[in-house]
Amino acid sequence: MANIQMEIIPEPKQGTAAVLIPGENGPQVILKGKGKNTYICGCCRMPICENVQHGQLANLVFKCFGCGSFNRIRGT
Ligand SMILES: [Zn+2]
Repeated sequence: MANIQMEIIPEPKQGTAAVLIPGENGPQVILKGKGKNTYICGCCRMPICENVQHGQLANLVFKCFGCGSFNRIRGT
C-alpha cells in the first residue's frame, strides 16, 4: 500500500476536464477500488481515492472534500 500525494491544479475550465466532486452528504472518498495505491489531497492530505490502480485515474480531476482544492494524478 502506498499513499501518493496528488498535484494541486487550478480549477479546470468547464468542458476541459472530467471533474469528480464529492456530494455534500456523500462519501468523502470519491473512488474506492481494489488496487494498491491510495491518493491523497496534495493540500490537506485527505484520502480521495482509496485502493485504485494508477491507470484507472488518467485524465480525471478530483475536488477535495476537505479543502476544495482541485487535484490530479501526477504523470497522467
Ligand atoms: Zn484537500
